[in-house]
Amino acid sequence: MRETRLAADDFILPLFACAGKNVRREIASMPGVYNLSVDEIAKEAAAASELGVKGIILFGLPEAKDEAGTGAYHEQGIVQQAVRAVRESAPELVIMTDTCLCEYTSHGHCGVVRDGEVLNGPSLELLARTAVSQAEAGADVVAPSAMMGGQVGAIRDALDDAGFDQVAILAYAVKYASGFYGPFREAADSAPAFGDRRAYQMDVANVREAMYEAELDYAEGADILMVKPATCYLDILKTLREQFDLPMAAYHVSGEYAMIKAAARNGWIDEQRVMMETLTSIKRAGADIILTYYAREAIRVLSS
Ligand SMILES: [Zn+2]
Repeated sequence: MRETRLAADDFILPLFACAGKNVRREIASMPGVYNLSVDEIAKEAAAASELGVKGIILFGLPEAKDEAGTGAYHEQGIVQQAVRAVRESAPELVIMTDTCLCEYTSHGHCGVVRDGEVLNGPSLELLARTAVSQAEAGADVVAPSAMMGGQVGAIRDALDDAGFDQVAILAYAVKYASGFYGPFREAADSAPAFGDRRAYQMDVANVREAMYEAELDYAEGADILMVKPATCYLDILKTLREQFDLPMAAYHVSGEYAMIKAAARNGWIDEQRVMMETLTSIKRAGADIILTYYAREAIRVLSS
């Protein structure tokens, strides 16, 4: 009689690639989540695949950052290296890549900055280059997260031109200016050096704007639409599910994960129960795919 059932293939595990060798650096506010050097990412991905994880999404922490975010689209960029290593160590995994510049720019913004302003046009060009270089490395899905106007269309065109029409785009259709991203910024060292990203993230109070943003990504050729964060925005997820015939993704973000972990560590909640309840609610609201740091733990529960 159960209407909503979680399964292993609902989950995508986010992994953070960093420079070096034999590096496993736990993120203080995200217990169980690590910054991993490429060799360690390869092992981690293989172990996750063995456990039943079907897909991962890779974020990169480059050794050096610069004004133009060169590390995002360099052939030997950290994510490109990680993609190639995972392709080798876990060939069955679906590999998604975060496609943005903010982890690679010295100013921490998601695009090209001039006179304190983020410029949309030049940013699109670099985002498209980033997507193509990730596809060249072997990514199956690129996930543009910069929230620049026209990014999905620009990336689709660039991928098609480069012969990667099979590479899918997971669009961050609706990305709210949320306080729940805090721990991720520690993980990815990507807080902006000046200003914030509110100018290109959505006001938490808006619904119609979410529909409008999703409509644009849909029209530009997105293959999957994503809502981020997940649990505070289940209404948005449900509305999008009803409006669009594309697969829906939800990102259960770092702060959502950290809150459950922290409360559980204090003995205030039953972690396993709250984790499964949370993930079930996200699926119930309409997510076909859930990006979550709990992917492995949830699969362990499901298979026990
Ligand atoms: Zn960004």
